[in-house]
Amino acid sequence: MSTRCPVCRKPVDISKDNPWRPFCCKRCRIIDFGEWMDEKRKIAGADAAPLGKADDLFETRDVLVAD
Ligand SMILES: [Zn+2]
Repeated sequence: MSTRCPVCRKPVDISKDNPWRPFCCKRCRIIDFGEWMDEKRKIAGADAAPLGKADDLFETRDVLVAD
C-alpha cells in the first residue's frame, strides 16, 4: 500500500519500514509540524506578541528544520 506525502506529494511507503509515515521523510514531517505551529502562533500572537519576538520564533524554527 502506498500514499503521497502531504507536504511534497512524493509517493510514500507507509509500511513499518518508514518511521516518518505518512510523510516521506523527517524533513517533511517537521515542515508539516512547523506549519501547524505557525497557525497556532498567528492565533495566539495576534494581539500579544511584540514585533521584537518574531526573530526569536524564526530562529527556533530554523533549529527544528535543520537535520
Ligand atoms: Zn515529503
